[in-house]
Amino acid sequence: MDYQSILDRVHAAVKPIIGTGSVASYIPELAKVAANQFGIAMVDLNGNVYQAGAADTPFSIQSISKLFALTLAFHQEGDSIWSRVGREPSGTPFNSLVQLEQERGKPRNPFINAGALVVTDMLLTHYASEGGAGNALIKFIRKLANNDDISYDRAVAASEQGTSHRNAAMANFMKSFGNLNHNVNDVIETYCRNCAIEMSCVDLARAVTFLANHGAVPWSDEKILDASSAKRINALMLTCGTYDAAGDFAFRVGLPAKSGVGDGIVALIPGECGICVWSPALEESGNSYAGSVALEMLTSISGRSVF
Ligand code: GLN
Repeated sequence: MDYQSILDRVHAAVKPIIGTGSVASYIPELAKVAANQFGIAMVDLNGNVYQAGAADTPFSIQSISKLFALTLAFHQEGDSIWSRVGREPSGTPFNSLVQLEQERGKPRNPFINAGALVVTDMLLTHYASEGGAGNALIKFIRKLANNDDISYDRAVAASEQGTSHRNAAMANFMKSFGNLNHNVNDVIETYCRNCAIEMSCVDLARAVTFLANHGAVPWSDEKILDASSAKRINALMLTCGTYDAAGDFAFRVGLPAKSGVGDGIVALIPGECGICVWSPALEESGNSYAGSVALEMLTSISGRSVF
């Protein structure tokens, strides 16, 4: 498969639609990101990198951090995490509160904000003594991406923390049901910091290759998750990774994926490669518009899909 020529074709084809949609403005610092940017990268299981556009430009990973946080919590706790967070698509926006009351403070899945707050709470328990859960997640991501320069943007973290009223409402609500062990402020602070981690498309495509390789980092063979757990994370990405557009995304793209309001989407082709596309701005459900179209083209041209 000539990945490079596929990426070049995709890049050329999406040019007219780059910038369509609107950048997230509820986090003031993210509203400053210039639309009209596009990057795409693929990293195969032999470590070969294919890229087009601004694939080395770091951007705010936002909800893509939920994928790494879940992996770390799953690695630590195994199946007991499912007693506190569900595995069903929510069909509601990523920051919705409506299901939480009816479902007694148990979030539908780990990829909506409520679920990620519970996962963050789990990490705070496991990494209390190692310089904190935020540091543990960055360390983990650096290893997966093979890049020690990865860090978080303090301005973005502070900007989100200052406007995290909805997340705080969810966290308080879940705490009232006994589904949060730590102080709400500590959970929100760590969550915002994780969302503010900056990575490029190349970093992110490389960081998800273990999910395309039965849970093992391809270049070191380090087992991050066993094959069955990796398969489960892929299933969650497919069914819940792109919020309430997950059905449409599976229909159009057909790959496990996780998006974020920093305009990036990671995806993977099992047994082949990790993929990341980044392009401001977003369509209504919070997924990059040009990014979604690019992934749809990529799978159509390559004929690859999990189906
Ligand atoms: N940090 C964002 C929030 O909590 C992440 C949301 C997202 O990327 N969908 O609202």
